[in-house]
Amino acid sequence: MSEQLEKKVMETLKKIKLSKKDKILVAVSGGGDSSVTAYLLKKFGYNIEGIHINLGVGDYSKKCMNSAKKLCQQLGVKLPVYDLKKEQGKTMKDFWREVGEKKKLNNCAVCGVMKKWILNKEARKLKVKSIATGHNLDDETETFLLNVLKGSLGLSSKTGIITKNTKDKKFIPRIKPLFYIHKKDIMAYARKNKLDFVDGICPYREDSYRIEIRKFLSTLSNKEKENLMKNAEHVLKKIKKENSKIQYCQLCGEPSRKNICKKCGLMR
Ligand code: SF4
Ligand code: ZN
Repeated sequence: MSEQLEKKVMETLKKIKLSKKDKILVAVSGGGDSSVTAYLLKKFGYNIEGIHINLGVGDYSKKCMNSAKKLCQQLGVKLPVYDLKKEQGKTMKDFWREVGEKKKLNNCAVCGVMKKWILNKEARKLKVKSIATGHNLDDETETFLLNVLKGSLGLSSKTGIITKNTKDKKFIPRIKPLFYIHKKDIMAYARKNKLDFVDGICPYREDSYRIEIRKFLSTLSNKEKENLMKNAEHVLKKIKKENSKIQYCQLCGEPSRKNICKKCGLMR
């Protein structure tokens, strides 16, 4: 099982065509997916550095940070910590309360936008070539179906093992080495290799629509989910988003599809 997983990830990395010399920033959250991502990239000889975002949400954040630190120590990988409270003056709980309520957005929507914005900015500072995240096949299938059901298929048009929205220098490509791997297999691999990670679901997860889709997907076999995503990739390649031109946010200067980026849009 472990060998099969490693082989699949290796094949994905080959398709991404990463150079082993180029520095990759791994977003190490302390959870199983990102721990396996960091572990495998290191094992395969890639040049990685970690980053952990401390959301400042009590015990859960402390546990995640400890696990991320322990893992990176074991791997001999640097792990700068981006402390949301220090950098932005607010914890994620403050953002959820203020922004989430005002804009009627769930915790995950706010958290996701913030994390993407932070990662791109920090990756540029650290002069890395790409950002690796722990997204797995189940996450990707959920997102794809979610976009289809919401009538926003275009939002999935950039999905895949690499998100290279643009050739813009300010946008750092994001890669997903675990794109074709099932969540259950990742967790089994993490346990087998005794990796440090926080087991279980984030207690602040709040995305009821996604949870419903997850329930539906749990009725499908692994093969059916794989087929769904293979077909999705095929179809999505053909979709060219007309509005995919990148500009810079008028407020923070980060790359954005609109004149105000998603993160600044939340703060207004
Ligand atoms: Fe943030 Fe949602 Fe992930 Fe929890 S599950 S860390 S709230 S995006
Ligand atoms: Zn902005």
